[in-house]
Amino acid sequence: FLEVQNLVKSFGTNTVVKGVNFAFDKGEFISLLGPSGCGKTTILRMIAGFERPTSGAIRVDGEDITHLKPNQRKLGMVFQAYALFPNMTVGENIAFGLKIAGMPADQRRARVDEMLKLIGLPGFEKRYPYEMSGGQQQRVALARAIAPKPRLLLLDEPLSALDAKIRVSLREEIRAIQRDLGITTVFVTHDQEEAMSISDRIVVMNAGNIEQLGAAHDIYNRPETRFVATFVGQLN
Ligand code: ATP
Repeated sequence: FLEVQNLVKSFGTNTVVKGVNFAFDKGEFISLLGPSGCGKTTILRMIAGFERPTSGAIRVDGEDITHLKPNQRKLGMVFQAYALFPNMTVGENIAFGLKIAGMPADQRRARVDEMLKLIGLPGFEKRYPYEMSGGQQQRVALARAIAPKPRLLLLDEPLSALDAKIRVSLREEIRAIQRDLGITTVFVTHDQEEAMSISDRIVVMNAGNIEQLGAAHDIYNRPETRFVATFVGQLN
C-alpha cells in the first residue's frame, strides 16, 4: 500500500538517504526509528511532498505520487508541536482541510463533532490553542489531520514536546484511533521504547540506510546488526 523504491536524497554533496526500499500493507503502523541525523525526517518529508527525492519513487495504493504536490497526495500530518493555527478555534482548525475540500458547512460541523468525540474533547470547538495543554493541542492536531479521511497519516515526533506521562497515554490513544480507522501510519521517532510499544513494523535507520526492518518484537529480540542491538538497548 505504501511503497518506497530506491529512494535517495542529497543536499549538495551530502547524501542523507542512500537508496531506501520498503513496502507496507494498508492499515499498518510503521515507525521510522533512528538517531538524530539518520534521515528519518527527510524520508517522511519526501513522502509528504515537502522534499523532492534526488532519485527513486514513492507509491501509495499503486499510484506513483513522487511528483505530486503535497496537497494532491491525500495525506494527513502531525508535527512535533505548536502546529495548530493559533488564531483559529479548535473547531476552525479541525474544519480547515474540510473547507478547502469543499465540504458544506453542516457536514463540516458534524465531522468536527465526530472528531472531537474521537479524541476525547467533546465541547472544545470554541477554545483557542493557547487555552489548552500541549497534549490537548496534539490531539486536536491529530483530529485536523484525520478529519479529511486521508489515505496515509504521517506523524513526525508528535509526542516529543510532551511530558513523559502524557506521552505514554497519548501514544496509546493515537494507536487506538489508528486501529479503529485502519489508517496506514508512518511515525518518526528517535525513542526506541516508543517505537516498540506502538508499531506493527519498524524501520531502523542509520546514516541514511536501513539497518533492519521487521516486526517490533523481532527488532527487539533478534537484532541483526550490532548497531540495532546497541540502539534498542540489548548491548552496551
Ligand atoms: P532528527 O531527529 O534530528 O531530525 P533525522 O534522522 O530525522 O534527525 P533528518 O532530519 O532527516 O534526520 O536529517 C538528515 C541529515 O540531512 C542531517 O544531517 C541534516 O542536517 C540534513 N538535512 C536535512 N534537511 C536539510 C536541508 N534542507 N538542507 C541541508 N541538509 C539537510
